[in-house]
Amino acid sequence: MTSERPDFGPRPHRDSVAAALAELDGLVIETEPAKVKKRSRDFHWFSPVLKARLDEVTADAVVAPADEAEVRRVLAACFNHDVPVTVRGGGTGNYGQAMPLRGGIVLDTGYLNALVDVRQGWVRAQAGCMMGVLDARLRERGQSLRFHPSTVDTATIGGFVAGGSGGVGSITWGSLRDTGAVRALRVVTVEETPRTLELRGSHARLAMHGFGTAGVITEVELPTAPLTRWLERVVGFRQFARAVAFADALAHEDAILKRLVSVVAAPAAARYLFPHGIDESTHAVLVMVAETADEALDELVAAHGGSAVAAAGSPLYEYAWNHTTLHALKHDRAWTYLQVGYPQPGTVERVVRMAEAFGPDEVIPHIEFLRMRGVTAASGLPLVRFTSEARLAEIIAAHETAGCPVFNPHVFTLEEMGRKHVDKRLVAFKQEVDPKNLLNPGKMLSFERPELVQDQPTAFGFRSQ
Ligand code: FAD
Repeated sequence: MTSERPDFGPRPHRDSVAAALAELDGLVIETEPAKVKKRSRDFHWFSPVLKARLDEVTADAVVAPADEAEVRRVLAACFNHDVPVTVRGGGTGNYGQAMPLRGGIVLDTGYLNALVDVRQGWVRAQAGCMMGVLDARLRERGQSLRFHPSTVDTATIGGFVAGGSGGVGSITWGSLRDTGAVRALRVVTVEETPRTLELRGSHARLAMHGFGTAGVITEVELPTAPLTRWLERVVGFRQFARAVAFADALAHEDAILKRLVSVVAAPAAARYLFPHGIDESTHAVLVMVAETADEALDELVAAHGGSAVAAAGSPLYEYAWNHTTLHALKHDRAWTYLQVGYPQPGTVERVVRMAEAFGPDEVIPHIEFLRMRGVTAASGLPLVRFTSEARLAEIIAAHETAGCPVFNPHVFTLEEMGRKHVDKRLVAFKQEVDPKNLLNPGKMLSFERPELVQDQPTAFGFRSQ
């Protein structure tokens, strides 16, 4: 890694943008540079590396279509004048996903926010629907989203499917990678006359976690879960290994319905999350289980020598997943984070070994338990004190040498991050839906550099089939 600003590729000529916008008379358009730049950001700044590289990135205009017909008009205009178009939902993505490297138009999905259909067991909504709003509508009908990111109140369902992976609820329901996690996507192509495709079942994977490079998603259909009343607890431990062992045991208890099992090591738990509830030597396990599992939880806590902690803060999930990093950053901008897998067998041992490999001044463990294709797994979002890119690379290498793969959140292309499997089938789909490579160009390298096309899917990655 170097701190040089990369060459992102050519921006459209000013006249091309003007010509495209001229075809969009009647649509909501923003061209004031400061406002456009604001809508060209996401949470890339969680990474000091990306902050240095992407901070100047901005679009030429933001267009907010009111319905799918207007989406088609935007995409046809961009096609006609070779103008890049980057879709934006809530703009909460972490890796510069929604940042228009080559300028052009940001397509804001904010007005595409209708609930399309709700049935027993599934829901269909427009892509710009906020996940919190969607969940509230489901609650009225005795249902809920199966899982959602900790940004549920500020992120859209389309942005989650196109850029996210899992989160709150993944301990029971798995993540977006899993077969059946998404029932269908409705996608619009970027062509002279844009088409609308219904991608059902595994076909939906073609447009998932692709950072909006393979079609503009206008509707998302998801299975739902029955509504459950959740109990929130923070459990404190003196030893990190005991905190992880408790979390692992709870994560494996099939009869306890769970929504969140997260471990945040000392001193971060007290210093950044619950300053009034615990002291700096406490390792915290953040737990959400069904209210009816209260006694079972108490028994498990007692058996592992934990103690309930009076930690203010609800909803508790706003202290977990990447919200843990956000709270740390609010106190100290020197922190950043990694995304780590801890494969089976020996997950707990690997987690503890990696914690011991670094001091808490440099790496503070943060583990999220989830279900992954039938097994209970642990993924890490450790806090990492950033000193230099070289040291960050060493920390990443140490994890990988120990058999813990890192999904690097300090890069912005699909291929470098390694979470999306960009194979021949996906590149062929991209050719079909976006032949001019106008959708978020610069994020899917393989389309421009066929030598990068992958043959083997990665163990933790999103497959295309
Ligand atoms: P955006 O940031 O707007 O977009 C994300 C990507 O999807 C971009 O590449 C964009 O171009 C593309 N896109 C958006 N809408 C569409 C569309 N309609 N069609 C095609 N492409 C589209 N992520 C998780 O998975 N789990 C977590 O628990 C989690 N926690 C987080 C906590 C914090 C504090 C932060 C800052 C981020 C977290 N994230 C998490 C990342 C992010 O919040 C989620 O992935 C979120 O779902 C993204 O939704 P969004 O609407 O903000 O998407």
